[in-house]
Amino acid sequence: MQKTIGVLTSGGDAPGMNAAVRAVTRAAIKKGFRVVGIRRGYNGLLNNDMVELTTRDVADIIQRGGTEIFTARCKEFREWEYVLKAKDICVRDNFAGIVVIGGDGSFRGAADLSKAGIPCVGLPGTIDNDIQCSEYTIGYDTAMNTVMELVDKLRDTSHSHERCAVVEVMGRNAGHIALNTGVACGATAILVPEIEFDIEDVIQKIKNARANGKEQFIVIVAEGVENYSEKLAKTIQEKTGVETKFARLAHIVRGGSPSLADRLLAARMGVAAVDMLMEGMENVFVCERDGKMVPADIQEAIVMDRMYKSTFTPSVKYPEEALKTYSPEKIEYMMNFCVMREKEIKELITTAEDISNYSV
Ligand code: ADP
Repeated sequence: MQKTIGVLTSGGDAPGMNAAVRAVTRAAIKKGFRVVGIRRGYNGLLNNDMVELTTRDVADIIQRGGTEIFTARCKEFREWEYVLKAKDICVRDNFAGIVVIGGDGSFRGAADLSKAGIPCVGLPGTIDNDIQCSEYTIGYDTAMNTVMELVDKLRDTSHSHERCAVVEVMGRNAGHIALNTGVACGATAILVPEIEFDIEDVIQKIKNARANGKEQFIVIVAEGVENYSEKLAKTIQEKTGVETKFARLAHIVRGGSPSLADRLLAARMGVAAVDMLMEGMENVFVCERDGKMVPADIQEAIVMDRMYKSTFTPSVKYPEEALKTYSPEKIEYMMNFCVMREKEIKELITTAEDISNYSV
């Protein structure tokens, strides 16, 4: 009986998920597999909501945003009982493996299913670029371009009216979108959860710049700086006297046709995922490092993520217990990786500060 590879999209959607499903489907069929699209994330496995995908079925989706096989969260999948139920369904359907496209939550499900005996390989599909192991995630580039386009429009109207615009962009526990788009859009200030800031500095900067004749101001705030951006707009207006409007870009940033970079990444990662399954790998996800597609251990990536995020997000606990299972060399490697990521962010913040200097 011909072996099957399943593919699913799970968690928050990201532009380029369709391109990834297409790449997985076509590469797997070329290598002799039957391919099944599991609809609505892990729910599709539990509810038998699956559809065979032929090369024709994935035609004309490379350019589409969203995901044609739908995505959803599946609460039950956090319970072992349901993971075992999913495993039985995979065995019944002769699955050789599953490619899971999603964020870190989805990868936890993939790790569980691998443990239950169904090899899973993940593809990082998230606009937040918050999987530290991978330099890029599918959807991130498109999301940044969308933010840039929208902020440019806000800048036009802010210029006409000589206003300030405070823009909140997506980024749960991660300020990558805010930071990069802030630099690319010439923001006066960028506030991200990773870096401490003093709002008085922002106020003073706006006041100085206005005194120097600057007409408009853009302040970009990452969603991870919780419950802050709307209040900040009011504070800026009160303290600087500059009329300030607030905009939350929210889910609009998740949509749209994927950029060239995301389509290319989806294609390369999709093909790499099928190759990894064929090589007998499991419990790994494809990540981009130094421009290459390489496997990374899911568990290790999750621990490293917690290590990294716990340094600036109080709700994320340092993974003390999990680290006990790793060698001192491995722990050192993980720590160095986190330090490198933090350094990259700090360098970009410095760049942003240098180019938003309005003193005469
Ligand atoms: P993302 O993948 O974008 O981070 P979520 O964190 O919402 O999104 O996770 C998506 C889905 O992955 C969840 O609804 C659930 O089905 C599965 N999942 C998340 N965490 C776990 C876990 N600890 N164990 C098993 N499955 C999980």
